[in-house]
Amino acid sequence: MGGDGLDERVFATIENVIDHGADAWWLHLSRCRACGQNWMIAQEERIFDEHFLRRLTVDEANRISGDAEWPVEFSSYERVLKTGHALHIRPCVFLDRLPPSLIWTAEDLRKERPDISTEEIAFLLGITETQSKRLLAATTPERGSWWQRTRRLLGW
Ligand SMILES: [Zn+2]
Repeated sequence: MGGDGLDERVFATIENVIDHGADAWWLHLSRCRACGQNWMIAQEERIFDEHFLRRLTVDEANRISGDAEWPVEFSSYERVLKTGHALHIRPCVFLDRLPPSLIWTAEDLRKERPDISTEEIAFLLGITETQSKRLLAATTPERGSWWQRTRRLLGW
């Protein structure tokens, strides 16, 4: 999606039903008010700044609301970013040297899969391997997750 007000038109009738929350803060179950269609939505705001929508059957939606059982497509941030690349969406270009959203994403990717390489992280983030190494050097796991730091920052 993106551009020409398409987001606004689509989301005019789509309502959020359930947030996955916790480790998958990007993941939502939503439903169209007009036709009742259920959607699984990944709200990607760091690399592509896009929403990814996957149509759900009624059964799939019921498994989410009843058993907290989500389809796997957007279950990790790596999968979400791979979806963006598979759709040939261009990653955002950041002007600062160490943008927090890239640092947080690199941290999350490494937390999800500790053996992920700097090359893979570079590809997923749309940056060079040199930039990726610089980012990873800037990550500070001992200070807690980006979420904990954000909460502290906001005083929650
Ligand atoms: Zn609809």
